Amino acid sequence: MAPSFNFEKLGFIGLGAMGKPMVTHLANKLPPESRIWVYDVVEQVVDDLCAEFPERIVKGANAKDVAQSDTILTMVPEGSHVRSVYLDPKIGVCSTDISNKLVIDCSTIDTATSLAVKDHIAEHFPSASFYDSPVSGGVVGAINGTIAFFLGCAEGDPNLERLTHLMGLMGKQIIPCGGPSLGLAAKLSNNYLSGVIAIACSEAFDMGMRSGLDPRTLAKVYAAGTAQNIICDKFCPVPHVYPNAPSSGGWKQGFKVQLMRKDFGLAVDMAKRVGSQNVLGEIGLATYDGAANDPRCRDLDSRVVYRYLGGQEDWQSRSNGA
Ligand code: NAD
Repeated sequence: MAPSFNFEKLGFIGLGAMGKPMVTHLANKLPPESRIWVYDVVEQVVDDLCAEFPERIVKGANAKDVAQSDTILTMVPEGSHVRSVYLDPKIGVCSTDISNKLVIDCSTIDTATSLAVKDHIAEHFPSASFYDSPVSGGVVGAINGTIAFFLGCAEGDPNLERLTHLMGLMGKQIIPCGGPSLGLAAKLSNNYLSGVIAIACSEAFDMGMRSGLDPRTLAKVYAAGTAQNIICDKFCPVPHVYPNAPSSGGWKQGFKVQLMRKDFGLAVDMAKRVGSQNVLGEIGLATYDGAANDPRCRDLDSRVVYRYLGGQEDWQSRSNGA
């Protein structure tokens, strides 16, 4: 028989584009006796969630207040926010006794900050368990409950089953990556690869199109050839090649270019720290930095790098002879 896990007192901090739909899944799927304490620096979003789930969700005054729960999840933007959420001496999670608690940070941040928080918790609350567990799959995945979790723990970790059950309420795949901070290392390495592919894909399409090829033909060629990858297929940076790609909707939905810039920068830093040769890192970072600060690209899906690099967007009217 499958073990039953009771998440009766859960806490969630950071109710933004990702956090809010993740909490909504928990509120909809946890057993009726469970309560979820939530906190965000933006009070309105807390109030909205409490109003939506009056029986289930409880407003927390701050991170410390939320830490009265037995399991604490966090989903905030950057390492500095994670530090303040956990280590603020007056209102941080660690300013109250979190002995025996299960603590999971899902934010995408640098591994050094994650390990610093883990070490602090291990020193002050040795019976508590802290895990990094960044996610992939974007806002749409968070809403649909299809995100993947890259969990910083070993296959044999005693909490793995419990963690897998909890994350399975919010996502589809839970991949234990081997140990502390390795979930983050996996996520950063993945986003580095995805970011590099998007630049290469934009350039490859552009050179082919300027040589006279229809991008739909190029897409077929890449799919049949050795260049096949999901950015060329489903996230095609050239608009109107794949109808559901963010580019076909004006890059409005997807993974914001500023977030790609952030993750790419974290990956390049990580590569330096671990002594990994990284010839595409600096140029990739400069490209995403430029795109993130370009008003034509800012706030749009990161595959807008195609526009930033001067790719043709009106190819359909050109090929119609208009
Ligand atoms: P977001 O900016 O939409 O939400 C972050 C939330 O955290 C905001 O509501 C903010 O008010 C809150 N917050 C900030 N500091 C806080 C603090 N000290 N205490 C409490 N709340 C605080 O960001 P997001 O898109 O939800 O991303 C969250 C994390 O998930 C980031 O690390 C991001 O890189 C990662 N991520 C995002 C996506 C995506 O597509 N958006 C995909 C995968 C991973």
